[in-house]
Amino acid sequence: MREGGPAMLVTLLGTGCPQVHPHRFGPASLVQSGGTSFLVDCGSGVTQRMAAAGVSGARLDALLLTHLHSDHLVDLYQLVISSWHQGRDRPQRIFGPAGTRDFALAVMEAWRKERELRIAWERRPSTEGLELDIIEFEEGVVWDTETLRISAFAVDHGPVKPAFGFLFETAQARVAFSGDTTVCENLVSVAQDVDLLVHECFIHHEMARGRMRGA
Ligand SMILES: [Zn+2]
Repeated sequence: MREGGPAMLVTLLGTGCPQVHPHRFGPASLVQSGGTSFLVDCGSGVTQRMAAAGVSGARLDALLLTHLHSDHLVDLYQLVISSWHQGRDRPQRIFGPAGTRDFALAVMEAWRKERELRIAWERRPSTEGLELDIIEFEEGVVWDTETLRISAFAVDHGPVKPAFGFLFETAQARVAFSGDTTVCENLVSVAQDVDLLVHECFIHHEMARGRMRGA
């Protein structure tokens, strides 16, 4: 725990799961501390929820991805474009597990012509906000300043590897995000004495099974 520094404000922007629900958006949380803003995952509806919370994508310091399941990052391109429309003039910084770079660049390539049309038509003062600054991390510290430290820790999301949770620490507060995980010793260890644990909760029998795994 550090000396001095700000506390944290955590806003749950989306708490839904792949099962569609009219009142629950896809997984996304906002962490604000000392003038910095971080997004943990960017599920469906994240930009609408950010707008409702009065937060601009233009001022995000980084997007942190727990893992590459679609419900956690399906609105990535929408986040990039809407942030640019909000005046972002620097690359969108993305911290994610291995595979993030290939995924994000493929998304950007899929939309390349659309983006070129926008740039030509909209003539905004900068296109820097449409660039990505991608950092693939391993377990450990991913962000470290005088006032805030963010660490990634591995969790057990079954066949989805790698999958991580995050621990945010300031002098006043410690906040952990589980990401998607089953019972996990790493999480139990990290979550000791935190002020807030944002934990995934998935109830199997509430998921429409249909033909899932042969059911
Ligand atoms: Zn998942």
